[in-house]
Amino acid sequence: MRIVFLGAPGSGKGTQAKQLMAEHSMVQISTGDLLREAVAAGTELGQQAKAAMDSGELVSDEIVLGMIEARLMGGDTENGFILDGFPRNLAQAHALEGVLAGVGKPLEAAVLLEVDFSVLMKRLTGRRTCSATGQLLNIYFSSESELQACRDAGGELIQRDDDNEDTIANRLNVYKEQTEPLVEFYSRKGLLRTVDGEGDMAEVFQRLTHGLNL
Ligand code: AMP
Repeated sequence: MRIVFLGAPGSGKGTQAKQLMAEHSMVQISTGDLLREAVAAGTELGQQAKAAMDSGELVSDEIVLGMIEARLMGGDTENGFILDGFPRNLAQAHALEGVLAGVGKPLEAAVLLEVDFSVLMKRLTGRRTCSATGQLLNIYFSSESELQACRDAGGELIQRDDDNEDTIANRLNVYKEQTEPLVEFYSRKGLLRTVDGEGDMAEVFQRLTHGLNL
């Protein structure tokens, strides 16, 4: 299936996409992850993207489109993909349409994960990754035993550079102004599936798979 995930930062796109990948063998393509890898590797693309990422602004369409086109041409996307964090504005959505039309494989669904603003703030400010296991955790929502398991594995709880309060506020503004119009865009095309993204991960996953008829 060919899907895009819409939803504000912190709405659970990455978490749910990873679960779909694990249980339904779907390929997750996260532009945020690809960009963070480029920054960590110190590539030229990463250096160009870093300032925008640190301030919560969008990286230029040119950089992101080049990256996503190359990724979509990978053989592993033959049987479908989940785009997580892309498209982020109308120009990207139009460009994606063009690329997929060119290969005769249009999108089949656009999933909107809906989460209240106050919950988004807690998810984002509390979000951590365990340095030993790579597990995504949250200092507000993860159980003490989950947090302890990370420490027992010799790990530390690492916060993403752009998960500080100033950058988070800007990322949410950017979402409202530039990304939210995509909800209307995909609704008009009859592709939109809205899923309540609040509650625990398993609950949301059940709603999601039900919404996608999986
Ligand atoms: P994410 O992990 O999806 O929250 O993305 C982290 C940051 O990467 C965003 O705040 C942007 O700076 C950048 N980014 C990710 N995806 C895109 C995109 N499709 N277009 C522009 N910038 C992006």
